Amino acid sequence: METLLLKGKPIAERNQQLCLDEVEKKGFQPKLGIFMVGNDPASEYYVASIQKQAQKFNCQTTVQKYSDIEATQLIQHFNTMQTQPDIQGIIIQKPLPKHINPSAFDNIITPEKDLDGINPINTGLLLQEKECFIPCTAQAILEIMDYYNISAEKKHVVVVGRSNVVGKPIANLLLYKQKNRNATVTVCHSQTPNLKHFTTQADILIVAVGVPKLIKADMISDNAIIIDAGINEVVDNNGKSSYVGDVDFDDCTSKCSAITPVPGGVGSVTTSILFKHLCKV
Ligand code: NAP
Repeated sequence: METLLLKGKPIAERNQQLCLDEVEKKGFQPKLGIFMVGNDPASEYYVASIQKQAQKFNCQTTVQKYSDIEATQLIQHFNTMQTQPDIQGIIIQKPLPKHINPSAFDNIITPEKDLDGINPINTGLLLQEKECFIPCTAQAILEIMDYYNISAEKKHVVVVGRSNVVGKPIANLLLYKQKNRNATVTVCHSQTPNLKHFTTQADILIVAVGVPKLIKADMISDNAIIIDAGINEVVDNNGKSSYVGDVDFDDCTSKCSAITPVPGGVGSVTTSILFKHLCKV
């Protein structure tokens, strides 16, 4: 049986059209506020790419970038930004500088503008299976599964990674007492002894770790479905950089029944979800 490549492009395109239709219906371009601190080159690249994407979704962006200033001042700037009525949604670009608590804005961001679902109100609503902003990457994984008719019903899903933005939300979403969810979920992390013992039991393996090519063919079962959220920059001996996932794609492809490519898989859907949240579609 040929391995199914779970490409993100058709889903991203569908989401783009949904946003374009919604913006036309609204009669104004929603504005995304991007809050950045420091000068991380990867962040700057990512923000530039969101700004470019925004045009394709007929949305506006405004970037507020601060040098490495004191935390209380930053919070004041953040509050000024989020009370602006023409900004419909906000994301906080990570990483934040070391002296700023990485969750410093989680409690402060207004839940109605919290497009990546980091505020505890959204987190709690997610756990209770109620409407909320779902973290964009977790929603991207769900949309990929739904698009390719991958049901988690009665399946054993193993999630590797327990971050608040990917691992924990997707594990909880697949536990939902709902059609196509209803999974039995195991969550693994850096303190899990013998990771392979768990990953080889997965019908569906979801990986969000940040370690290039961590998952090898001997860590998966025959015909498993693999969803790789990892995006890691690697530089070869000639100094050429490229992006790989947390799963060793070449090693695993012939053994699994379906796999997301990196790039072109989860990451390509995630930005479209951000704009879906901004446009509220
Ligand atoms: P994170 O906050 O750093 O969390 C990583 C998780 O992986 C943690 O739970 C950590 O365990 C676990 N982990 C680390 N090393 C491990 C190992 N050797 N074995 C098992 N578990 C291990 O990262 P994140 O924000 O979730 O991101 C994870 C990956 O997804 C990264 O490659 C990131 O670039 C990518 N990402 C992609 C998108 C997208 O749109 N596709 C969006 C966000 C992130 P502990 O909890 O014990 O530390």
